[in-house]
Amino acid sequence: MISKRISKLVAYKTETTPAKVRLSSNELPFDLPESLKKEISRELEKVQLGRYPDPNSEELREVLGGFFKVNPTNILLGNGSDELIYYLSISVGEFNQGIYFPVPTFPMYEISAKLLGRQAVGVPLLRDFDIDLPTSIKALEENECVLAFFSYPNNPTANLFSREKIKSIREKGLFTVIDEAYYHYSGESFQEEALNREDTVVLRTLSKIGLAGIRVGIMIAKESVVGEINKARLPFNITLPSQVIAKVVLTKGRDFIEDSANRVLEERKKLYKGLSEIEGVEVFPSRANFLLFRTGVDASSVHRELVKEGVLVRDMSHLPALDNCLRVSVGKEEENSLFLEKLSLVMKKLL
Ligand SMILES: *Cc1c(COP(=O)(O)O)cnc(C)c1O
Repeated sequence: MISKRISKLVAYKTETTPAKVRLSSNELPFDLPESLKKEISRELEKVQLGRYPDPNSEELREVLGGFFKVNPTNILLGNGSDELIYYLSISVGEFNQGIYFPVPTFPMYEISAKLLGRQAVGVPLLRDFDIDLPTSIKALEENECVLAFFSYPNNPTANLFSREKIKSIREKGLFTVIDEAYYHYSGESFQEEALNREDTVVLRTLSKIGLAGIRVGIMIAKESVVGEINKARLPFNITLPSQVIAKVVLTKGRDFIEDSANRVLEERKKLYKGLSEIEGVEVFPSRANFLLFRTGVDASSVHRELVKEGVLVRDMSHLPALDNCLRVSVGKEEENSLFLEKLSLVMKKLL
């Protein structure tokens, strides 16, 4: 009875191996300050969980508008940006038209396409992790692609693609989604274009700035585009606790968000330097809150040995062009030090 389309898929799996130091999911390593947690508790006590949440998250969109300096009417919310990726895949073009994205990248673009039976057109990146433009254009024309996803910066390669190449692909008539999940760490954005064009939207998320647990993703687009994609949205997709918590943190926790993003940037610099000093390790530049690095030995063995030492990173070595590559999220100072210490140890053992 289950559709062939579904039965041939594999359910999405994340890294759940237990470990003392978890640097595998690009979360913010710092917990909210106590005062903010107390404020959240106070606000949560007031809500009636027996009632449905505001279906349009009006107040939260108002607050987010202030945070991102856009009108609330330019905002559509998803249960994480994952859900928005799904809504966009449902809403743009027809199901017999393909969805383009450079690979390796964030897996949800492919998963959403395949769930809907759409052609997922993943075109391998060049060796410098930028877009292969001629091959991309050929592939997207052959597969009649109408929708393009760009992780900007790209997860897991950590770089920003060339803006010009993204625009060249858009010029082929593709509706272009710029997934800026790491915006706070890159400072680069297509927001202006999203607010002025019908063919460009930007995705943001609270997940990488301290609120992965509440699942709030944000699409920024022209009002007319928001209106159309909103038709695909399930009612009440942002839970009542999520709306309350996000409102508190985005009004009273602005300093926390800003300070912690700055701390991550400082730690990223130190982590990059530390990695570049370990023998047998090649580290790539990063515009995000994680670093990709290649080991001169089998990366899966490195991963396994690190787990034994209580450190969890993400093994990326199965992905095309990422042979022997691992991804490490920027953690707290002491977590990063421990990771560097254990990695040195493991490399000495395996080299
Ligand atoms: C982490 C990540 C997301 C996930 O966002 P959620 O809001 O937690 O669903 C989206 N896109 C990219 C590129 C990511 O790395």
